[in-house]
Amino acid sequence: MDCLFCKIAMNEIPADILYEDDNLLAFRDIHPQAPVHILIIPKKHISRLNDLEAEDAHLMGLLTLAAKNLAIKNGIDQSGYRILMNCNDHAGQTVFHLHMHLLGGKPLPHLG
Ligand code: AMP
Ligand code: ZN
Repeated sequence: MDCLFCKIAMNEIPADILYEDDNLLAFRDIHPQAPVHILIIPKKHISRLNDLEAEDAHLMGLLTLAAKNLAIKNGIDQSGYRILMNCNDHAGQTVFHLHMHLLGGKPLPHLG
């Protein structure tokens, strides 16, 4: 499968990897939008949020916990941070392998 993040997960393309376990991988975004900008992905290929199944509920919890732990490790848990996932065109999704952005290290534009 021609998927950039699957290739990173299989060590075929280099990345600045910050965390890895059996289910997940986290690495620095190549075009950071904030001082801390980390992507957390499941190793399992899921193209987008629309493709999530009930069996992926645990995996989504693991992604969120990994984001929290990475926020602590990167010293942004007290100042604050944002996690987000883009789905399809209007959200600006460009890589079609599910990923959670972890952003922080500066005040972020208000959303919502
Ligand atoms: P999205 O727009 O939500 O699909 O996010 C895709 C993100 O992947 C963007 O923030 C890109 O900067 C990032 N990205 C693309 N290629 C790479 C790469 N080779 N290594 C790390 N991050 C990447
Ligand atoms: Zn993939």
